[in-house]
Amino acid sequence: MPEKFDCIVVGAGPAGISCAHDLAKGGAKVLLLERGEYPGSKNVMGGVLYRQMMEDVIPEFYKEAPLERPVVEQRFMMMDKESAVTFGYKGLEWGREPYNNFTVLRAKFDQWFAGKAVEQGALLVNETVVLECIVEDGKVVGVRTDRPDGEVYADVVVLADGVNSLLAKSLGFHKEYQPDEVALATMEILKLDSKIIEDRFNLEKNQGCTIELFGDATKGILGTGFLYTNKDTLSIGVGTLLSGLIKHKIRPYELLEYVKNHPMIRPYIQGSEPQEYLAHLIPEGGYHSMGKVVGNGVIVVGDAAQLVNAIHREGSNLAMTSGRFAAETVLMAKQAGDFSEKMLDHYRKKLMDSFVGQDLKKYKDSTHHFDKFPQYFDQYIPMMNKAASQMFTVDGMSKRDKQKKIIKDIGTPKQKLKIARDMIKAWKVMK
Ligand code: FAD
Repeated sequence: MPEKFDCIVVGAGPAGISCAHDLAKGGAKVLLLERGEYPGSKNVMGGVLYRQMMEDVIPEFYKEAPLERPVVEQRFMMMDKESAVTFGYKGLEWGREPYNNFTVLRAKFDQWFAGKAVEQGALLVNETVVLECIVEDGKVVGVRTDRPDGEVYADVVVLADGVNSLLAKSLGFHKEYQPDEVALATMEILKLDSKIIEDRFNLEKNQGCTIELFGDATKGILGTGFLYTNKDTLSIGVGTLLSGLIKHKIRPYELLEYVKNHPMIRPYIQGSEPQEYLAHLIPEGGYHSMGKVVGNGVIVVGDAAQLVNAIHREGSNLAMTSGRFAAETVLMAKQAGDFSEKMLDHYRKKLMDSFVGQDLKKYKDSTHHFDKFPQYFDQYIPMMNKAASQMFTVDGMSKRDKQKKIIKDIGTPKQKLKIARDMIKAWKVMK
């Protein structure tokens, strides 16, 4: 008789590890299966880890976890070809306990995090691909893996296998995702001396900065670029919806090269050495793309459930929160001895009542809106740059005349009305 667990968690990313950690801590017998050589070996992230959601799993983790830098500054660059309107916030309070967020390198961080789940009693098995869920009488009762005699059984299976989740798809929980529901991101980790990083980004030791890049960073295609400071590396990347890449016939690595060579970005990364090249999908369909997240004996968490807030580049925190809620639900179900969909629906309710569900609902129409109306990225950002250049050039023209000229340059009254309408529409999908 194959071994039976209280719960099998498929995938050791932030969602799966959080779930396995809390389950083991709650006394459950839990198996965490990961296809990679070790947790993090297959995982890609720009690198911002949110302190609060991580502390909900491991209080004061920052005292021992392998973190890069606490982020004290967030900048946003609205880029044109040779200019950028930049704004942001720097707060030294973010550099002190309890901190706000951190840059991390997932290959190091996930390994450490999975180790904490193992310390609690979870059994981690790497290099194991889950091929399918075993379903008996309409209930998921285990998984079939690529190992010899690879069937394992459990009362509940938690699918934390990331974007695309083939396992949830094979259960009929979601359809095949379309190119306008998934982004493809490419990134590089660039080696650079820590002192140079601090000088270039105006940081002190053990302070970090994140820069989000919009507009020309993606050649005006809906998407964003990013540049984050680690200890002695930089993470630089760019991601756009697959539909944008197809429409503009651009290859993802061409876009990454374009950002790296952009005159607004080049000086930050000059002299650095590429250390790693990574590419990964991001689920960006949001609320409308979410499939079923609960069934008889099964729960779906993290990217596998499309839990990403693309507007705020949040994913790992939604993943951890969902993993935590899944663990709480499985422990409740274990106590009640009931692993039915009705019982496990506690997870869905908790998720949708939390910031995860609320934020996904808030931005439910935003990706689709900005994808359908590309003028926000390819017209309005260049317009913003032109207006800033005119306003800040000191050339003897009075400020009132400059204002008039900027407004006149926008175009005809009809064009101005269109922009005003677009701004109202944008506000409506973001409010
Ligand atoms: P994943 O981290 O993808 O983990 C899934 C795990 O399942 C993997 O380890 C995989 O190997 C394993 N697996 C898959 N299939 C199987 C199988 N069949 N059998 C066994 N194991 C399997 N989020 C942020 O919060 N901040 C950021 O700055 C940020 N930047 C990002 C930048 C990029 C370029 C990308 C691609 C994403 C970024 N995200 C960011 C999103 C974030 O990475 C994800 O939301 C998060 O990793 C989701 O966690 P997860 O555990 O659900 O999935």
